Amino acid sequence: MRSNTAEIWQSCLDVIRDGVDASSFKTWFQPITPVDLEIVNGEIQLTVEVRNRFYLDWLETHYNQVYDRAVTQVLGPEGRLVFRVNLEDQKAPETNETRPAVQRPKARLSAPNAQPGVPQSVAALNKTYPKVGRSLPPVDSKLNKHYTFANFIEGHCNRLARSAALAVAKDPGTTWNPFLIYGGVGLGKTHLIQAIGNAVQERDAAKRVRFVSSEHFTNDFVQAIRNNEVSRFSSYYRSIDVLLIDDVQFFSGKEKTQEEFFHTFNELHQIGKQIILTADRPPKQIEGIEERLLSRFLMGMTADLQAPKFETRLAILNCKAEEEGIELSPNVMNFVARKVQSNVRELEGAMVRLMAVSMLQTEEVDLEMAKRELKPFFITQPTRLTVEAIQETVSDFLGIKQDLLNGRSRKREIVEARHIAMYLCRKFTGHSLKEIGRRFGKRDHTTVINAIKKVEDHAETNVQFREKFRRIQEVLSES
Ligand code: ADP
Ligand code: MG
Repeated sequence: MRSNTAEIWQSCLDVIRDGVDASSFKTWFQPITPVDLEIVNGEIQLTVEVRNRFYLDWLETHYNQVYDRAVTQVLGPEGRLVFRVNLEDQKAPETNETRPAVQRPKARLSAPNAQPGVPQSVAALNKTYPKVGRSLPPVDSKLNKHYTFANFIEGHCNRLARSAALAVAKDPGTTWNPFLIYGGVGLGKTHLIQAIGNAVQERDAAKRVRFVSSEHFTNDFVQAIRNNEVSRFSSYYRSIDVLLIDDVQFFSGKEKTQEEFFHTFNELHQIGKQIILTADRPPKQIEGIEERLLSRFLMGMTADLQAPKFETRLAILNCKAEEEGIELSPNVMNFVARKVQSNVRELEGAMVRLMAVSMLQTEEVDLEMAKRELKPFFITQPTRLTVEAIQETVSDFLGIKQDLLNGRSRKREIVEARHIAMYLCRKFTGHSLKEIGRRFGKRDHTTVINAIKKVEDHAETNVQFREKFRRIQEVLSES
C-alpha cells in the first residue's frame, strides 16, 4: 500500500461518517481496508478491500451515492473508488489473518465471463465469486421444527431419498448440488426437505438456512418489483448458505420469476452453496419450465418418494398416533394402514378423522366405525374417471350449471367449483395439465396449476371447505 492511501481513505471516511448513521458506518464502512491508489487512464483510483461479496453488494445498492460523493470531494471529479473482495477471508472465516486479496474488476456483480445458460467450472468462478462469510444479519429460516429425520419413517419407498438427504444435511454444498426430491402429493417432500434444513441448523446454528415455497418466492419477487426492491431481494437470496425451495412446479409459466431464480441458482451454486428443491413429478415432466432452468435442476442428484407399502404405512401410523397422543386398537390401525393406500397425508387424515368422530359421538373407535367413516379415503386409484363425469358430479353437487365450468364467469361459487373440478381431473383422469386446461374452456395449464394450489390451500385451512370437498369425492367414488 502506498503511504498516503490510508490517509486518503481516512479523509473519505470522515466525509462518509457525516452522511450515514453511526451503526451503518460501523457495520459497512469501518471494516473496509484501503489497498492502493493509482492513476489509470486519467482516473484516480482508490482501491479498497471488502470482506465478501455480500458486503460489496450491500454497499453498492445502498451506499453508492454516499461513497461516490466522498471520493469526489476528496479526490476531485476524476476520483473513483474500486472495490476488491478479500477471498481468503471467505475461505477461512475462523481466522483473523489478512491475506493478499485477489483483484476484482469494478463493482458490478454479474459473473465476469458468464453467459446466460453457460455453466462454468466452479474453480474458475470461485476466483471472482468469493464465498459469503460470517457476520451477516441472521436469517429467519421459516423452518417448521417438527419436521425432522427422527420422525420421518424409513421404508423401501423413501430409502434412497432419505439417505441422500442425510448426506446432504451432513455436508451441505459438497455432495449433491442441487438435490431434488420429487414425488406425488402427501408423500413427504415438504417433511424431508425441512428435515434437511433442521439438521443443518442443528449442527451449525450460524448457517444461513432458508425454506421457501416457490409460490412464496414468486410473490416476494413480484412484490420486490412493485416496490423497486429487486436488488435487495436478490442480495438476500444470494446470501443464503442452504436454500430450500419447495414445489418448484409452481414456477411453471412464470417466466420472470424463473429468470430471477435461474440467476440466484447459478450464483449460489457457483460459490458452493447448497440448493435443495422439491417437485411433485420428475423435473422433465414439469410443463412450462424453461429448458436452461430444468437442466440446472438435473445437475445434481434427484431422488423420488414412492407411496409407502403396508408395513411402512403402519409404522407411520404408529409414530403419528404416539406424537398426537391418540390411542387406537391394533386391529383398527391395521385396517387403516391396509385400506388407505394413496399417501401419508391421507393416512394421517384418516386417523385424525376417526379420533374426531369418536370424540364427537363419544363412541369407541372400532372396526365398524372405521369402515363407515373412512370410506372417502379408500378411493385410491379408481377406475379412470372422465373429465365429463367429474364436471357433472361437481356441478350437480354444488348446484351449478355444468357449462358454467367451461365459461368465463368469475363468480365466486363458479370459480370454486371450477377449481375443485380441475383438481379432481388432475387426480383421477390421468390427463396432462395442458389437456385439462383445454377441456375447461381452452384455459392455460398454469390456470390448472393455480386451481390445484387453491384447492390444496383451502382444504388445509378451511374446515367447511374440507368437508364439502370430502363429500364430493365420496359421491364421485360411488358414481
Ligand atoms: P408433500 O410435501 O409430499 O405433499 P408432506 O411432506 O407435507 O407431503 O407430508 C404429508 C404428511 O405426511 C406430513 O404430515 C408428513 O409429516 C407426513 N409424512 C410423509 N412421509 C412421512 C414419513 N416417511 N414418515 C413420517 N411422516 C411422514
Ligand atoms: Mg409439500
